[in-house]
Amino acid sequence: MPNILDGRELSKKIKERIKKEIELFERKPRIDFLYFEDDKSTEVYFTRAKKQAESIGIIASLHNLPINTSEKDFLTLIEYLNNEKETSGIMIQMPLPKHINKKNVYETISPKKDVDSISHINLGKIFIGGSNLAPCTAKSAFALIEESGIQIEGSNAVVVGRSEIVGKPLAHLLLQKSATVTIAHSKTKNLKDICRNADILCVSIGQSEFITGEYIKEGAVVIDIGINVLDDGSLKGDVNFEEASKAASYITPVPNGVGSVTVAILFENLIYLHKNLH
Ligand code: NDP
Repeated sequence: MPNILDGRELSKKIKERIKKEIELFERKPRIDFLYFEDDKSTEVYFTRAKKQAESIGIIASLHNLPINTSEKDFLTLIEYLNNEKETSGIMIQMPLPKHINKKNVYETISPKKDVDSISHINLGKIFIGGSNLAPCTAKSAFALIEESGIQIEGSNAVVVGRSEIVGKPLAHLLLQKSATVTIAHSKTKNLKDICRNADILCVSIGQSEFITGEYIKEGAVVIDIGINVLDDGSLKGDVNFEEASKAASYITPVPNGVGSVTVAILFENLIYLHKNLH
């Protein structure tokens, strides 16, 4: 059996560390969550995140916006929060409603308050290297690898999926630690062979159990970022856990893997921004 990389354990560890740090702050950090009323799953996620924030001394404010909020009004709210002294971080629901251009949002949110590191400036800093911020999901996947003491330097890492907020930043985080990184996507040829060469295989494609046992090298570290909700309401990753477990040395489960770390990493990013602001 492989070692299970349990996201709940890492999340607890990060939050305990942050709680101790916040106790020493004169001014409590505040995070503002922005989302639209039609998105029930984001509402559940942000409401839970608010509760967790408050349990470690973070002030959290939910902004549940009418679905017909215009792009202009949405950007005005972001600008207002950019200038609001009490706010240290702004977290925005993704994907946005179709009538709001995400590029305009990425350009409007202040890099100083961009807690999910989606602004062009913060994404660019990941490319240059040495940034403490990264989009929460990518950083969570990376943290699970790094905190387990897995050898990254010199490893062959394959990241399947090239989205701006998961695949690309994760690939750069691994590159910074001197992995040899391959980024695969829907047009990649011989995906199976490429994956079978991976010492560290990270998958973020949004297709339930697409990666079967045949894609896994003996002893590989398998990081499954996908969250797919099946018709019966159960959650599956992008990797077939049972098959992959036969070859993997380390593997993340779904649920209780990467997705369980993202809120703690969000708070870690918030504390970093808060310390820079004050
Ligand atoms: P996107 O849809 O933005 O990107 C998917 C990527 O996967 C694209 O680059 C696409 O390639 C690639 N892809 C799709 N199908 C294949 C295939 N058959 N073979 C190879 N590559 C493929 O998704 P996200 O990155 O935002 O999310 C991916 C998954 O991660 C989803 O299941 C999502 O629910 C989950 N997720 C989990 C989070 C968590 O907290 N754990 C948070 C965010 C997302 P191309 O670019 O060529 O189209």
